[in-house]
Amino acid sequence: MTADSGLFRLSAPQSSFQVEQDLPRLGVGGRSRIESDIKIKEDGRTSSENLLGERGLKVTFWGVRGSFPCPRLSHIRYGGNTSCVSVQCGNQSIVFDAGTGIRGFGQWLMQRSQRRLHVLLSHVHWDHINGFPFFDPVYKSDFNIHVWAGSLSQQGQSIQAIMSQQMQGPTFPISLESLPASLQFTDFKAGDTFDLEGGIRIRTTALAHPNHATAYRVEYQGASFCYVTDTEHREGTLDPGILSLIRGADLVVYDSTYTDAEYATRVGWGHSTWQEGVRLAVAADARRLAIFHHDPDHDDDFMDQVAAEAANLWPGAFVATEGAVIELTG
Ligand SMILES: [Zn+2]
Ligand SMILES: [Zn+2]
Repeated sequence: MTADSGLFRLSAPQSSFQVEQDLPRLGVGGRSRIESDIKIKEDGRTSSENLLGERGLKVTFWGVRGSFPCPRLSHIRYGGNTSCVSVQCGNQSIVFDAGTGIRGFGQWLMQRSQRRLHVLLSHVHWDHINGFPFFDPVYKSDFNIHVWAGSLSQQGQSIQAIMSQQMQGPTFPISLESLPASLQFTDFKAGDTFDLEGGIRIRTTALAHPNHATAYRVEYQGASFCYVTDTEHREGTLDPGILSLIRGADLVVYDSTYTDAEYATRVGWGHSTWQEGVRLAVAADARRLAIFHHDPDHDDDFMDQVAAEAANLWPGAFVATEGAVIELTG
């Protein structure tokens, strides 16, 4: 079963059909912006390791839902797992958020030789961390995993304590402290910039969300990727922190939980709209927008409609699907 979004083809996960094709050229702000250097391939779980060698970013969507998982037939084409996106930078792995999608990433990683990775958390609401206890690498002593969070120290909290609390009995039988993997935890302040090994630069900014959240930008070998969820916009005002973070980025993943029409009855709920994502991406001269953090109430038919309307509004926008892989070479 396939559907054509106008940008790339979507195929059901059970299909063996594979797609790898160049995206069409885009006309943004009066000029063509997309060259043939971005590719989308279905089903990252079957793609080869280190596809890009030492250059570029490979982005894989392991979970694209917000709030809670929805493993239902009506949602299967876009996917039911909660937030998790991995970014391969040469031989380094970064994973954004540890929602239920991280289980698939862990299974993929177990088949590879890589044993060190960074987990960058937007925040610690359940849909962004509750896959962590089911992330296979934490049960292997040869893994070295560094977990980062940018919005807790200002609240008198630490990421290590929060992750430990979510794995305590009687709600979970295995403690964080007993995990075999080598785990490291770092709290930073949203707005900080830091470098990871291998020439990877991470920039961050604070988001508007209950209990706070942090957005990230990865820069590596001339390519740039931004992860911006969860956040609420103010109508009529583009968030200056987000605008600065995503300026000129190759790909922006954005909290698009609602449509503009729905948002009118959801003010204060902490989330944004795909139309606001387009407004930000266009204003910041970004190249592509991934509509992300889908509302569980939005089934495949609804998301098909969003995909069509978004592509019509701005050809740089597409709806993130679980399993999709995007290569950015800067
Ligand atoms: Zn969320
Ligand atoms: Zn949240």
